[in-house]
Amino acid sequence: MDSLQQFLWPDGQFLGIEWHVWKVLGWGGNVAFFSRFLVQWYATEKRKEVVVPPVFWWLSLVGSWLLLSYALFYQKDSVFIFANAFNWIPYLRNLVIHRRHLKAHMTCATCQHVNPPAARYCMHCGTLLPLEREGETASLAA
Ligand SMILES: [Zn+2]
Repeated sequence: MDSLQQFLWPDGQFLGIEWHVWKVLGWGGNVAFFSRFLVQWYATEKRKEVVVPPVFWWLSLVGSWLLLSYALFYQKDSVFIFANAFNWIPYLRNLVIHRRHLKAHMTCATCQHVNPPAARYCMHCGTLLPLEREGETASLAA
């Protein structure tokens, strides 16, 4: 048993890293931040066009917050703190905009088809869609 432990955790380290809560948190941030590229690449290859799925922004947000926590509370290095201090803002903003865009979709009263925000007529049955939608003003009528 001791030899197995010595094989898996030589000198109390795994993969040459002395693990503790902050290392798990920091590496968790790295994994989240790195995996977003794989997710985005997969989505793009699947659709055969450049796609940035919402999960990309979620992974970006979680990864940057974990790395910021690691930099702030464990590493306490100004370079790494600054590198992660503000990049989460556009990630969060993109998620807010994405959510608002989804909410702006219009369900047709006639056929229940969900139409994109810019649609004036139902893309399935052609019914005229109401002009005023939740959170919008009639200024779009012009
Ligand atoms: Zn319809």
